[in-house]
Amino acid sequence: MEIAFWDKRAETIDRPTLRQEQLRRLQGTVERALQTPFYKSKLKSAGIASAYDIKSLPDITRLPFTTKNDLRDAYPCKHLAVPMEQVVRIHMSSGTTGIPTVIYHTQDDINNWTDLVARSVVCTGCGPSDVFQNMMTYGLFTGGLGLHYGAEKAGMAVIPASSGNTKRQLWLMKEFGTSVVHATPSYMLHIYSELVKEGIPISDLKLAKAFLGAEPYSENTRKKIEGLFKIDAYNSYGLSEMNGPGVAFECVCKCGMHVWEDSYIVEVIDPDTLEPRRDGEEGEIVFTTLKRTATPLLRYRTRDLSKIIDGPCACGRTHRRMDRIKARTDDMLIINGVNVFPSHIEEALMQMPEMGTNYQIVVDKNESLDRVTIKTEVYSNLFKDDMRELEALKKRMRENIKSRVLINPVIELHEPGMLPVYEGKAKRVFDNRPPL
Ligand code: ADP
Ligand code: ZN
Repeated sequence: MEIAFWDKRAETIDRPTLRQEQLRRLQGTVERALQTPFYKSKLKSAGIASAYDIKSLPDITRLPFTTKNDLRDAYPCKHLAVPMEQVVRIHMSSGTTGIPTVIYHTQDDINNWTDLVARSVVCTGCGPSDVFQNMMTYGLFTGGLGLHYGAEKAGMAVIPASSGNTKRQLWLMKEFGTSVVHATPSYMLHIYSELVKEGIPISDLKLAKAFLGAEPYSENTRKKIEGLFKIDAYNSYGLSEMNGPGVAFECVCKCGMHVWEDSYIVEVIDPDTLEPRRDGEEGEIVFTTLKRTATPLLRYRTRDLSKIIDGPCACGRTHRRMDRIKARTDDMLIINGVNVFPSHIEEALMQMPEMGTNYQIVVDKNESLDRVTIKTEVYSNLFKDDMRELEALKKRMRENIKSRVLINPVIELHEPGMLPVYEGKAKRVFDNRPPL
């Protein structure tokens, strides 16, 4: 297998040199953070008066954590480390749950982000011969613009399609021979149902690869998408607080996402005790920016659960890999006292060949007990079978889920197209229980 690199020196740097660079850059980040009213007081309380208080990488544990709520408190610009004249871009979280979080970028920040994305797409074997259709929303959400510049820089022909209007997406794919797309896994599954509905054979498309991210999904979903479209799907991870896409990306080996450790220090912690976890142990992912000038962030708690995969990757890159996100800590459901991650239910569903492309998990109270109903779309030919077959299918689905997550759900089968579609991040879980 031929391995392509965007910046071979940076991507295959030996680890002792990488760690030296990280330390130097971490000191720079602390120095910049001290310029902001937000971190100045936080660092002072932690006993850090200057960058020289950080003498080695393990000293990072002396730095305070940053949470999404901290960033809300810093709104609009208490965390800005440069004069506003140097800012060239502003991104903001959706803010559906309260005050939005704002991330400012200087031209240097945008250039570095662009490079990380170029590195990421080249890492999957993409380049100037590709036509790239970016189906993530353009705007304040970073999935659109974030991928855009890096893909252009890597020489791909970029179609800034943005999200939605599936018929037009399909038309663009056919017209321009799109070879690579970027979408949420849930939208990718929806695109497939539309292809089937429109009677477009896969052979009409030139699609070869997809970058899938922005929401948790299981390995079974990746395999399902790869099988349906006959493509390679690569996991793409990022969050707006750390720029957006291009924080961690899978290479052609498809065995975990390389975290670009020359731009980010990644830590894994126990989300309850905040104690560090070792490589291979699952916990909450925490990032510190190393190159960002406008909005340096220290030990940002992502609320994403995953682990670091230890050991070298066959591609030759030395940056450690992160496993796929198991869940977001806020997504965990407690069902009759048992912790349940929606991604585990998804994994069990997507294993089943009868499973279609959409599902929902509904939780409510049945007297004093929690009841989980799983609404699944299954292929329409199944509805021609007799009732006993459908009942047998429901039973198999229930057993499959039960063996994975220790709950006994009610299964509802729906025809394709009956459940609502999301063009961006899908809403899968509807928790209708009264608040405690
Ligand atoms: P938010 O969803 O918090 O408003 P963003 O739009 O910045 O913020 O999305 C970042 C979040 O999306 C990540 O913290 C993570 O939960 C999720 N995410 C992004 N990429 C992936 C991925 N490849 N797999 C799983 N989850 C992802
Ligand atoms: Zn690799």
